[in-house]
Amino acid sequence: MQVTSRFAPAPTGYLHLGHVLNAIYVWGVTAARGGRVLLRIEDHDRQRSRIEYERAILEDLDWLGFRPAGPFVRQSERHEIYESALARLRTAGLVYACECSRNDISSAGESGTEFRYPGTCSAKGLSERAGRGTRVRLAASLERFEDLGHGVCQQQPSEQCGDLLVRDREGNWTYQFVATVDDLAQGVTLVIRGDDLLASTGRQIQMARLLGRIDLPRFLHHPLIMKSATQKLSKSDGDTGVRDLRARGWTAPQVIGHAAFLAGLIDRSRDVAASRVSSLFSESR
Ligand SMILES: [Zn+2]
Repeated sequence: MQVTSRFAPAPTGYLHLGHVLNAIYVWGVTAARGGRVLLRIEDHDRQRSRIEYERAILEDLDWLGFRPAGPFVRQSERHEIYESALARLRTAGLVYACECSRNDISSAGESGTEFRYPGTCSAKGLSERAGRGTRVRLAASLERFEDLGHGVCQQQPSEQCGDLLVRDREGNWTYQFVATVDDLAQGVTLVIRGDDLLASTGRQIQMARLLGRIDLPRFLHHPLIMKSATQKLSKSDGDTGVRDLRARGWTAPQVIGHAAFLAGLIDRSRDVAASRVSSLFSESR
């Protein structure tokens, strides 16, 4: 079966070198395996997503030379798909409404690590309605998976995050839910993303199984380009934006080569064309 992966930016800002690195891995590793890359615009957060960012992302991606297979999809247009996935979970008795505010949840958790939802509303029997969140009950099971970058990993989502929020109080679908539904619906077999999402993998695997997925996708989590030892790059780091580098006269192969160099994929900054990124994975690894 052909490998299918996806590039899935959120239109909440412009593309920066961190996205370029992810594109290098996604297109490079997928091409080295003879696969195809789908493009998915992750605009599930209606308050933060902007159409002008989406346009800029599409344009920058094209300028860089990364070409997806077929037309892209937008999460904001997939409401029925998410509703029917949620209906399946509801029928299985796994869904409940949650009236907790963000503050309720933060004050109940320990600081410093991820907040674990303590199940406050799990037995309240609240009806689902506007202004309430929607959660899915997770079993206390241990998820074991082999990551192509990290080897065998073990996670227990019920202890990490507790019952998963799938729709928030504002009515937005959450990343954890829609990414899992889309990966299943689009037949994604290889998920390639940054190490900052490694902790999400066990819960997405558990959710995928609840949704009836039998052949689970494989995962590759790759190192991030760090601004400092503890801070990852963000959209606010202006000097790393693809648009800014373009405006300063950089070429696409220079931008790609620079991102590959900053991540340690090559030992010096040199030109790398988008059409050649698979060589970074087939020759040296
Ligand atoms: Zn609650």
